[in-house]
Amino acid sequence: MKTIAIIGAGFCGLASAWELLQEGHEVHIYDPSGIAGGASGVSAGLLHPFTGIHANLAEWGREGVASTLELIRISSQTLGTPVAEESGMLRLALTEEMRADFLSCASQHEDVDWLEPRECQHLVPNLKALPGICIRSALTVRSALYLRGLWLACEQSGATLIPQPVTSLSSLLDYDLVITAMGASIASLPELRHLPIRPIKGQVLELAWPQDIAPLALPLNSLAYLVMQPGGQSCLAGATFERDFSTPLPVPEAAFHEIMPKIAAFYPALSDARLIGCRAGLRASAPGHKPLLKQVDAKTWVLTGMGSKGLLYHALFAKRLCQKVQCC
Ligand SMILES: Cc1cc2nc3c(=O)[nH]c(=O)nc-3n(C[C@H](O)[C@H](O)[C@H](O)COP(=O)(O)OP(=O)(O)OC[C@H]3O[C@@H](n4cnc5c(N)ncnc54)[C@H](O)[C@@H]3O)c2cc1C
Repeated sequence: MKTIAIIGAGFCGLASAWELLQEGHEVHIYDPSGIAGGASGVSAGLLHPFTGIHANLAEWGREGVASTLELIRISSQTLGTPVAEESGMLRLALTEEMRADFLSCASQHEDVDWLEPRECQHLVPNLKALPGICIRSALTVRSALYLRGLWLACEQSGATLIPQPVTSLSSLLDYDLVITAMGASIASLPELRHLPIRPIKGQVLELAWPQDIAPLALPLNSLAYLVMQPGGQSCLAGATFERDFSTPLPVPEAAFHEIMPKIAAFYPALSDARLIGCRAGLRASAPGHKPLLKQVDAKTWVLTGMGSKGLLYHALFAKRLCQKVQCC
């Protein structure tokens, strides 16, 4: 049994904690923001393997979904309530290129259906007349709830949460192993400043759902996305991708001006929707848009670089991390 410090209580930190606890290790998690205080708590919760504008099957996409589903099951069982819905998702083609990509996706994968504009409008009234694909296997995860359940499961297996920041790896010399799962904040540790992680700010709006319009039957995604919130009174509209930003905090007016025209391109009925909130988080972007799982010295490992695919990859890479650590 090893005594292990994990820095960060987001998707990566808690999934790593769960895997390491199953191997009988003692786990202490450091995070001054508590559970889900970083990008993971802001995530819109979309989980499917056909990512990016071209809707190609992501590398490790199927394995990633399968691993995340295992943790969703554990979180739901621990809380006694579902933390995700098998919602499916409708991706709408705005351009000829998207149409060709989506047709190709539907022809290759049995869980993806091609829909003509009339069929899309039948599924979601008020849509513009656009073709698209329905990804039947897509899920909507209630991210903060999911993490709450996963944390409870970790706590029941003996994990401890220490609500303090780690400012240097030198403060953790008493541990056998250190896992840094700090998302985009990895460069705040002087020892890890050299890692090639770029922060990309993302903002998501919460809009009051108009009372005269039926709630969406499933999330919509095109150059922006719409996800109903539980209860049907509001929806999330996202997201921005900001490489240059002056503050990590929400800037609602700027986010509204960037996101709403993209929503109007496929769902104009929300043009007058009332803004009721705006959240911001920092995605960690690694070279090649692939997760970064790396040993940086004899006892320190890094798991970050999830970009926009944290839900898709965190559980799979936490499992891989655990396997590697077992060999140390
Ligand atoms: C607006 C937005 C929408 C998104 N929507 C989706 C989506 O629908 N689907 C999807 O798959 N992905 C989505 N993502 C991406 C996803 O949220 C990230 O990939 C994921 O959250 C990364 O998880 P993480 O654990 O690596 O980092 P984080 O969740 O950021 O966790 C890092 C943790 O480290 C802690 N920390 C930082 N510094 C220190 C320190 N010095 N000491 C101790 N702790 C520290 C932080 O408080 C934080 O809790 C979205 C991101 C954004 C911004």
